[in-house]
Amino acid sequence: MKTSQILIPMQKEAPNDAQIISHQLMIRAGLISKLASGLYSYLPIGLKVLQKVEQIIREEMNNSNAQEVLMPVAQPAELWQESGRWDEYGAELLRFNDRHGREFCLGPTHEEVITNLAGQYLNSYKQLPINFYQIQTKFRDEIRPRFGVMRSREFIMKDAYSFHLEQDSLQKEFDKMHSTYCRIFERLGLDYRPVLADSGSIGGENSIEFHVLAESGEDAICFSDKSDYAANIEKVVFSEQTATCSPSAVEKMVLTKKKTSIEAVAEFLNVEQADCVKTLILKTKEGFKAVALRGDHDLNETKAQNLWGEFELASDEEIKSLELKKGFIGVKGLSIDLIVDYSAAVMCDFVCGANEWDKHLTGVNWTDIEFKTADLRDAVEGDDSPDGKGKLVIKRGIEVGHIFQLGDKYSKAMNANVIGKSGKAEVMLMGCYGIGVTRVIAAAIEQNYDDRGIIFPASIAPFQVVIVPINYTKSTRVKELADNLYQQCLDAGIEVLLNDKKERAGIMFAESELLGIPHRLVLSDTHADNSNIEYKARNNPDKVEVPFDEALIYLQKQLSE
Ligand code: ATP
Ligand code: MG
Repeated sequence: MKTSQILIPMQKEAPNDAQIISHQLMIRAGLISKLASGLYSYLPIGLKVLQKVEQIIREEMNNSNAQEVLMPVAQPAELWQESGRWDEYGAELLRFNDRHGREFCLGPTHEEVITNLAGQYLNSYKQLPINFYQIQTKFRDEIRPRFGVMRSREFIMKDAYSFHLEQDSLQKEFDKMHSTYCRIFERLGLDYRPVLADSGSIGGENSIEFHVLAESGEDAICFSDKSDYAANIEKVVFSEQTATCSPSAVEKMVLTKKKTSIEAVAEFLNVEQADCVKTLILKTKEGFKAVALRGDHDLNETKAQNLWGEFELASDEEIKSLELKKGFIGVKGLSIDLIVDYSAAVMCDFVCGANEWDKHLTGVNWTDIEFKTADLRDAVEGDDSPDGKGKLVIKRGIEVGHIFQLGDKYSKAMNANVIGKSGKAEVMLMGCYGIGVTRVIAAAIEQNYDDRGIIFPASIAPFQVVIVPINYTKSTRVKELADNLYQQCLDAGIEVLLNDKKERAGIMFAESELLGIPHRLVLSDTHADNSNIEYKARNNPDKVEVPFDEALIYLQKQLSE
């Protein structure tokens, strides 16, 4: 393809809302265009990359005997009522009525639709196991769409759903998908890790997420420094501890005027944050809860959600209505349930709010306080690894895939049965397997860029080679050589972009680097004089002069490496 034949609207500057590098580069290189918050169009180059990602996923899913289907984006409310998720799913589910007033939603995921299909067409255990997948648009009305296609409202997902008679068979397919995903992410050229994960509202017990490691990742991933333990921070489970200290101090009330944060209180009283207890007030469906954590620990929202469902932090007004003093809330004399994190519950002689303005207590102990305990905190660097081997190290990850064992959660609710071996109807078991296809592109860029732009992994680059002829429109020699080389590439089946625009060399170089095409060939009159060309790989600063006659062979060698 020639640059004159393809729209590549490059920009010098990234828009203000582009906070992370992949978002900036995807806009600047002309891959995507924003329509509205969380909604993006794929321009010709962006679409090429997207199709390459889809193709790799499709090939590997097909190789694993999954069958491709395509289900509607719009889904009738009845299916979601059957599964029980119509009321359960929050505001991320975009609901609407058709002209007859019937309720629908835009599919954020397709468990209901596929379970309905399976119920209709699968009748006998002899048809199992079976795995269906699709590559299709999802809509989630995300509370904070951000980072371009990384967290958008409309995005493309590969979702697959498998059906089984027995747990053994489900486990086998789950393991198979695990290795299929590893092959997919390897082929996509990503540095990724499978990690233990929480199952969220989709349900089921066993789940593994695939994360691409990158600073900009929204998830914290915990690794053991001594074993292969790896888990999303929300899945790092801590157990109840036994105290290693015993109370020795006398409780005192101290003036801590305007010291409303743990940092300020610890500094003022000259103690460690780990010697303080902080108390948060949560508004849950079961009423207000006071949660006590060690001062240097953070609440893990997923753990809290798993205990109480959707919750939020109580507002200033609500705190007031409970007769509590924001900034000085403590664990003594509360009128609401107090739940203490396991690590806070083994502290002695600690500091906490006095439940009076401008006052804290020191030398506090749990004796005489009524409370329950739970695992409620985020892991921190240096925590013991839950597998008993080594300490935890924390890195940032971008979730690009997630595999679950759903069990009978949907099939039972929606009556998806088959005739089992004994001749009786049996509820099928299900697995589900997702990849964020559009998110993969952003994640790949987060891992592969430099100050000049994108450095696409070869397998998903929009073109393999770019030919940059200098003076193409003026020098007939250069034009002839460039056209000749371009044709040789096309004949050899190489995806090549010829820059045939009348532009300065510097601009053409900058543009090809921004676009991240892995291999570049430069041709000028000087090269014509010497019967050679210049080759440069995007990820290597060295330039190599190659005789023109050997250019194609040289290039093919680079492409195969
Ligand atoms: P997240 O925790 O990032 O919101 P999720 O747990 O909601 O993800 P799943 O329901 O498991 O995601 O969806 C499967 C895959 O779809 C995810 O692994 C992710 O790669 C992708 N995905 C989810 N939400 C979005 C989004 N808003 N924009 C782009 N991709 C997304
Ligand atoms: Mg989500």
